[in-house]
Amino acid sequence: MAFLEENGLAPHPVNYLVAFEYVLGEDRELMQEMNAHIERRLGWDDALMGGLFERFIESRREDLYAGVSTDLMDLLANLLGQVQDTRTSMADYHKTLAQKQGGLKNRPSAEALHAIVNDLMSATHDVVVSSGSLQERLDSTQREAETLRHQLEEIKREAEYDALTGALNRKALERILGSLHQDAGNGGKPYCLLLADVDHFKHFNDTYGHLLGDEVLKRVVQVLHQQVKGGDFVARYGGEEFLIMLPGTPVKGGLVLAEAIRHAVEQIVLVRRSTKERLSKVTISLGVGGYRADEDKLALLERVDAALYRAKREGRNRVTQAD
Ligand code: GH3
Ligand code: MG
Ligand code: MG
Repeated sequence: MAFLEENGLAPHPVNYLVAFEYVLGEDRELMQEMNAHIERRLGWDDALMGGLFERFIESRREDLYAGVSTDLMDLLANLLGQVQDTRTSMADYHKTLAQKQGGLKNRPSAEALHAIVNDLMSATHDVVVSSGSLQERLDSTQREAETLRHQLEEIKREAEYDALTGALNRKALERILGSLHQDAGNGGKPYCLLLADVDHFKHFNDTYGHLLGDEVLKRVVQVLHQQVKGGDFVARYGGEEFLIMLPGTPVKGGLVLAEAIRHAVEQIVLVRRSTKERLSKVTISLGVGGYRADEDKLALLERVDAALYRAKREGRNRVTQAD
């Protein structure tokens, strides 16, 4: 936070993560690059921090992904090798059986018969051992595959959710909004959007500090999750703005929910742990708008944003319907 403050950077998650990595000092390349920049006294901005984020932090997530897919390739190669080994030993077994069958045609003596049975038992034993070890290896492969599946789920979760609040991130938002709009356009059910923005959040941060500000964002998202239904989506649209997407919901229903959310956020009680001081009330304003066949999703978002802006202008802590 000190780094961000000293350099006039907003404390949003991207800036914070880059600064955090810098202070942590584990990434030599990132350190070198940032130190060189500091020496040149060039100053910092969001674009610069965004670039560092993409190159040093976001790309690592891709490394993790690459690691998992390499593991998966190894696993499959290993499995194919095992199947091949087992096939070879089965073919050998078949050859032995055919040979021994040939031996039986010449009316063998009791001794020769005894020898043939012995050979068959030994060849059968080898095959049993070999398929038993295949079974063991299959079991361990299954366990490894299970671990990989968990890792992939983790990657997927990280890629779709905002780390601070647990709301869906911007990328997921775009995907979901796109598909809701497309479905509605293809004769599916219309949907409704709520855009919520924390009131005077800058002032809250300035008064109580950014850590408590972060806490507010988490609590607001908790409330949003409590208020919506299973099929609804809560996404972080930007810093302290959240988009709630309600499939199959008319504007009327959206307005009722928005009002319930507004009221529930007002009830949040925040206490500073160290001093037990009760902090000032948190409120949000909301714009509400519904799908229209004659506009694209950006036009709908603009209408909802304009409604939110009106809610702010008319005094905040209120819900406004889009025109
Ligand atoms: P308004 O009622 O008009 O919305 O006023 P506001 O102060 O909420 O709006 P403004 O856009 O001026 O300020 C938003 C603030 O939100 C500025 C920024 O520092 C803060 N912010 C954005 N993301 C985060 C975050 O992740 N954590 C914290 N603590 N603050 C954040
Ligand atoms: Mg805002
Ligand atoms: Mg705000």
